[in-house]
Parts: sequence; structure tokens; C-alpha cells
Amino acid sequence: MIDRSRRSFLKKSAGATGLCFIGPSALLRAISPDEQGHPAGRLMPFPLASVRLGPGIFREQEQINARYLDSLAVDRLLHSFRITAGISSSAMPYHGWEDPGCELRGHFAGGHFLSAVALASASSGNTVLKARGDELVAGLAACQKKIGSRFLSAYPQEFFEHLAQDKPVWAPFYTYHKIMAGLLDMYLLAGNSDALQVAKGMGQWAQDFMGSFSTEQRQRMLRTEYGGMNEVLANLAAVTKEERYIDAAHLFEQPGFLDPLAGRRDELQGLHANTHVPKIIGAACMYEVTGDRRYRAIAEYFLEEVLTARNYAFGNTSFDEFWKTPPDQLAGTLAWKNAECCVAYNLMKLERHVFGWTGDARWMDAYERSLFNCRLGTQNAQGLKQYFFPLAAGYWRAYNSPEESFWCCTGTGVEEFAKFADTIYFRRGSDIYVNQFISSTLDWQDEGLVLEQVTQFPHEQGTTLKVKSSRPAPRTIHVRIPAWTTAEAAVKINGRPLDAVADPGSYLAIRRVWQPGDTVSIGLPMEVRQEPLRGDQSVAAALYGPLVLAADLGAAPADEACHIIHSGDTVPKNMPAAAPLPKVAASSDADAKQWLQVESASNLRFTAAGEGAAYKLTPMYQIGDQRYSVYWQMQDAKKQS
Ligand SMILES: [Zn+2]
Repeated sequence: MIDRSRRSFLKKSAGATGLCFIGPSALLRAISPDEQGHPAGRLMPFPLASVRLGPGIFREQEQINARYLDSLAVDRLLHSFRITAGISSSAMPYHGWEDPGCELRGHFAGGHFLSAVALASASSGNTVLKARGDELVAGLAACQKKIGSRFLSAYPQEFFEHLAQDKPVWAPFYTYHKIMAGLLDMYLLAGNSDALQVAKGMGQWAQDFMGSFSTEQRQRMLRTEYGGMNEVLANLAAVTKEERYIDAAHLFEQPGFLDPLAGRRDELQGLHANTHVPKIIGAACMYEVTGDRRYRAIAEYFLEEVLTARNYAFGNTSFDEFWKTPPDQLAGTLAWKNAECCVAYNLMKLERHVFGWTGDARWMDAYERSLFNCRLGTQNAQGLKQYFFPLAAGYWRAYNSPEESFWCCTGTGVEEFAKFADTIYFRRGSDIYVNQFISSTLDWQDEGLVLEQVTQFPHEQGTTLKVKSSRPAPRTIHVRIPAWTTAEAAVKINGRPLDAVADPGSYLAIRRVWQPGDTVSIGLPMEVRQEPLRGDQSVAAALYGPLVLAADLGAAPADEACHIIHSGDTVPKNMPAAAPLPKVAASSDADAKQWLQVESASNLRFTAAGEGAAYKLTPMYQIGDQRYSVYWQMQDAKKQS
């Protein structure tokens, strides 16, 4: 989310433009087959209700998140909506970005919270949170009815008029998108049909409002962050089959942003990262609902470019919330303010779309990299979430407060930690794709198939699939063989080794008539390796399999204010300067095994020979309150320009 005080920077940057796939398969439409024969038979995720997490870190983190959601009260979430609608409320409002004086109020209270409880309802059968969502939807519907113009927000319509008048205002449509998306999730995932009616009204209002301006004026208005308005309108079109919402989505497109991407040109320098990734998710949704391949080309180019030229090793991008440098030039950008967590959340949503079109393992490799390194670990034991993810040495994690922050990243965080089950398995026809190695059970009722995945990954280098029930018909199970594994990757079916395994970075297809009791054991050896920072070969991160390893640099400051931010600010006050990167007595082109040793593979403990010191390393996601460093200064300073 862009800081309000910096909107001027955004306006000076490229003329903004802009476009979803929340995950629920109900949104996905069959698109006519393209020349490669993709989409009529496109890969689709399973409905969330078909997959349950098994024991392990993901289920533990899901439960912590659910407890946090459960701590929030519906009448307090509704307060500003009621006041705006002219309905009395004596509830104590929340603060931070939900404060009654904040221009972003409602983004979490009526948006992310609804999406998160809908996701929790579908993915873990949480009936308490579902009831909370239903109660909130009823309250929002009453507010919309009282306002009487299909409009719904926690602040007055006048904020939207400020956009047209070029008066300062934070991001009205950003918040509007979150509320519409929350309502649509409550309909799709929790079966609340009132929520769909409220969302349809909001979509109509948005179309009427934006349609009343000239193209030039609309383009000026779109320079202000508007989230994924094109995404949610495309999804509304897919759900209702009403074409007018496609027309409405077109009103939220910016040729100034999309055209260079369609021409495969990286003109991202100067743009605010989290303002722009949602627009591309919208483009992906527009491809899925219209079949227009230009949208697909935009989404594929954008994703490839960001992942190969602008990402840090742990799977996220941005410096001070922006892309401030030319492609492949991340030298000098390691800071506290790296990698806003929302950006990883949005890039992963985009990866799911593109994977669905292509079936290319690289997108699920990328998804895994982000999931394990910059999503897992960004929630503390109280369910509080991070905003930035510091990459300069010697910093530590800081989180929102329970009731006084409500950042954008609090919002995307409560969604993420409620939907770990949504990408583990995909399907095409009767085929299954095993994308992620997470303890879980898939119950595919239409096909009479139950598949259990048993694993301690990444403490275990591989996974085991157990067929619990299956019809007696041939079926292919595709298993991702990640790019990070070695030529020693091995697969056994019922204890018998396969003669050959697919190359790392692809899917292994196993076709047979599966019987209850069949077992597939997949061994995926991990190795240590190093990856340079783009544009500076003298700086590198250490990895083990998909895991980015961090040096433990000792205890973080004891002051609670350094760890929990009791306001809408996103950085603790009085931050010290970063420490120098730890130095390694090895050159940039060295084999990482020269300086990095595996102390315990099952406990994921490592040691590094630093210059004058030895360091202990753990996977980044296990770093709690310690100071850490993800990057290392290699011995030869072959800095590239
Ligand atoms: Zn954010």
C-alpha cells in the first residue's frame, strides 16, 4: 500500500494503468484452446473445501491466524460503515488504518477480514469464523440499503469525488476493491448469497461512477492506487455471467502501464510495486474471462521480468515499496524497507494463474520459494503480521499491533495464513498435479479419490503420497520435481524404484490404475548453494533446497517497541543503521560447500566459515526475534555496474 504522503511520487511516475483469481475454482472459466492446446484443458485448483492440512507447521500457523481473526469483534469492524451510512454505533472503533479518521478505513474491516474468514471457513471448516463473516455481511448489507445508492464504504462518497477533482485523498478504490473481493469470497467460499447481491450493487455503482468521466479524466483518476478493481469486476462477470462487469473492468485499465508490458519492455522503474502487481492479476483474470491473449502476454512477461530481474533470493521484490532501479540492478538496495509482504502475496496469486495456463513447474518452484521464505515466518505467535521484510544485515522482524495498526499487510497476511491449502494440488481432467510438499489430504469426491500426503518437509527431503481410495480407472498423478533438487532424486511406487525420474524443474507423470493402499515415495535431495544479488556479484545469499538460510546475528533489542508497532506506522521508531554484511572467506564463484556446512539436515542447522568468525545459520522462516542477515559479502569485491 502506498504511503499517503508519497502519492506525489506515484503521480510523477509512469501514467498508471491497470487488473483475478482469488483461488476459488468456481471463478475459472473454460477458455477456448490456444494454439498450444492450453486452456480448454487448463489446470485448475481444487475447491478449498477438498483439501485439509495435516499435522505440521502450516496447520499450526493456520490455527494461530484463526485465533487472531476470532479476537476481532463484528460491531467494532462495522463501526465506521455504520457511521458513514447514518446508522448509530456505540462500538469502540479499531485504530491505525481502521481509525475513524483514516482515509483507508474499511479496507480490513469490511474487506480483508471477510476474505480471510471466508477462506478459513472453506479451508478448515471453521464455523465460528463463518458465522462472524455472515454477521458482518448482514451489517454491511444494512449499511448499503440505508445509503440507498448501491454505494458502500466506511467513508463518504465525497472521497471518490476528490479523485475526479484532483484533491488529495489516499486511495478510495483500493479500499472499495477489498470490500468487493471480501463479499465475493463470502459468496463463493462460504455460500452467502446476500454478499453477492451487495457486491453486484457495488460493481454497478463503480461502473456508473467511472463511466461518467471522459477517458482523459479517468486516466488521471487511475494514477491513484486502486488495488485490483479490474480483477474483482472480471471475477464478478465470471460469477454472474453478466457482461456489463467486463465493461466496468475496462474502465480500470491504464494503457500507459499495460502497453510497454505488452511490448515486452520493462518500464517498471519508479513504480510502486504493490500498486501495480494487482493490476496484472486483473489482466490475468481478464484473459481468463475474455480469452483476449494480449492480457495473457502482459501477465506472463510481467511475472517473468519481476522474478528474473527484480526479485531478491527469498522470493519477493521492492525497495522502499518501489522498483527504484533499472532491471538486474539491486546493488545498494538492502535496507529495512525491503519486500513489502503484500507484494509476495500478490506475486503468488499471479503465479497460480500463469501456472494454470502453462503447467510449467518454474511457477510452482517460485511459489514455493516465496511461501517458505517470505510468507512462512512473517506471523508471530500472537497472529500479528510483518509489513516490510528487512534485508540489510543486523535487523529483525517487526509486527503490527492487534488493534492499532491494520496495515494492508495485516490484511493480505490474514488471507494468506487462511489459504495454505489452495495451491498444494491442481487438476486437469482427471489428472492430479502435486505442486507443494505440505502435509495434507485431498478428498476429490467427484472422482471418488482420496490422496494423503505425509511429509515433514523441509525437515524431510521428500514426501510420500498414499492412495486411500480410488476408482478402478487409469489416472495420471504429476509430481513436481523441483529445480533445486539433484540428479539423485528418486521415486518409488509401492517400494519399487522407478527407472527414471523427470529432470529437476519439471513434473514427473505417473500413470496407472491406482489402488487403495498404493504408496508413492519421492526423494528430493537438497544441497547448499549460493545466489548472487542481481547486479552485485560480490553479495550472495545462501540456500538449501528451496530454503533461504539466514545468519543468526544474536538477540534483537529487548525494547518491545522495536518488535510491535502500536500505530499505523510501518517501521519502528529510532531504527539503528544496518550492520555490515557478514563476510565469507570464499569468492563469488566458489562452490557454496567451501564455506557452508550442513550441521544437521533433519534439524536444518548450518554453519558458515566467515572472515574471523563462524556463523550459525537456520532457514529464514525459523528466525524469530533474532537479528539476522540473508546476504553475505563475498571475499572478492567484483561489483558490477
Ligand atoms: Zn502491504
